[in-house]
Amino acid sequence: ASATAASSTGQGAEQRTVPERFTRFDAQPGYQQIAMMRQAADQLGLVDPFFKVHEGTAGATSVIDGQTCINFASYNYLGFSGDPRINQAACDAVARYGTSVSASRVVSGERPIHQELEQALATAYDVEDAVVFVSGHATNVSTLGYLLGPKDLVLHDEYIHNSSLVGAQLSGAKRMSFSHNDPDALEALLARHRHQFERVLVVIEGLYSMDGDIPELPRFIELKQRFQSWLMVDEAHSFGVMGETGLGLREHFDIDPRDVDIWMGTMSKAMAGCGGYIAGSKPLVETLRYLAPGFLYSVGMPAQVAAPSLAALQLMQQEPERVQRLHAISRYFLEQATAQGLDTGKSIGAAVVPVIVGSSASAARLSNALLEQQINVQPILYPAVPEKSARLRFFLSCEHTKTHIDQTLHALARLLP
Ligand code: PMP
Repeated sequence: ASATAASSTGQGAEQRTVPERFTRFDAQPGYQQIAMMRQAADQLGLVDPFFKVHEGTAGATSVIDGQTCINFASYNYLGFSGDPRINQAACDAVARYGTSVSASRVVSGERPIHQELEQALATAYDVEDAVVFVSGHATNVSTLGYLLGPKDLVLHDEYIHNSSLVGAQLSGAKRMSFSHNDPDALEALLARHRHQFERVLVVIEGLYSMDGDIPELPRFIELKQRFQSWLMVDEAHSFGVMGETGLGLREHFDIDPRDVDIWMGTMSKAMAGCGGYIAGSKPLVETLRYLAPGFLYSVGMPAQVAAPSLAALQLMQQEPERVQRLHAISRYFLEQATAQGLDTGKSIGAAVVPVIVGSSASAARLSNALLEQQINVQPILYPAVPEKSARLRFFLSCEHTKTHIDQTLHALARLLP
């Protein structure tokens, strides 16, 4: 069947046929791709590894389908989500502020808890100010989208997160990628193109979540200074993970935090909440507070989301042994996995360790088989990574034990050819 529509010439207009591909959602390319993937999975006898329901708190263990599993699929790096003290902070915030701030912060949505959280983040980074957005993804989209324009250039690591790509596209700036973690490749681009543009922003991440590796930050700082560009570091996965006390890449490399122009991070990983932040100079943060669309035209962060992240940030500093335990257990995972001959790529063994297994079908099959043994690990499939390097991605938490890891690697060894 095909749809018909009146042309815009008004009354008595002829009826023109519009092809179904322009009217039906199930004829759209995205939906067709999903349907094809489902069909392929069915043919291989695989269970869909996506949208698994976790019935309670997802930490080092999690209940899936009524079964308690060892869980390697959540960003609960410091075990704060589910910590009774963090839960209490959320309950107290609801009791005081209700469940919504009911407006953009710029009008009537501002609450003391926002300012306390932002002040704590600015102090953690040792920079002038910080601002929190309701989503980490929106933080990057809005910050890049607002700060840059068509006369500018964004140079980013080829593995940068989707949110930064979307922000760069929205800005209308010219966009170029350089090889993963390769400052020499960045230098070549800067040498060639810097002078053709007004503002140049280099975007990297503090810990890459597909590979578990980190950039050589001092080299990137040296380049951004030499070529008079801005440097943005997305610390979604490195804040709470890198550095002796979890203060991120600046602590790991012992650099001056002002040498990075834009520190970005999320509350959704180690900080047991939801939302993103930008930390940096006062003029940068003020500009975003008054002008970034994703902040200005969006409701303020709910207090019960802000309060647990503030509590997590404070507890991280009061209990540095959590970060040390995370470091130790991550290193243990990496050492044992490599001793077993598994391909862990370039992971440095800090909270994220991939095990590269080859095809998407093998990764999905292994994930299915491990779940049958109450071990939950997410497969990362093409197109998220190249088909030949599909993987199982292990997220570690300070609450994982050596027994969890021994049991998991033993199960994996028995499943691998
Ligand atoms: N940046 C990076 C590097 C991420 O991995 C993610 C999400 N995993 C985001 C930004 C978006 O953050 P959120 O999920 O908190 O919206």
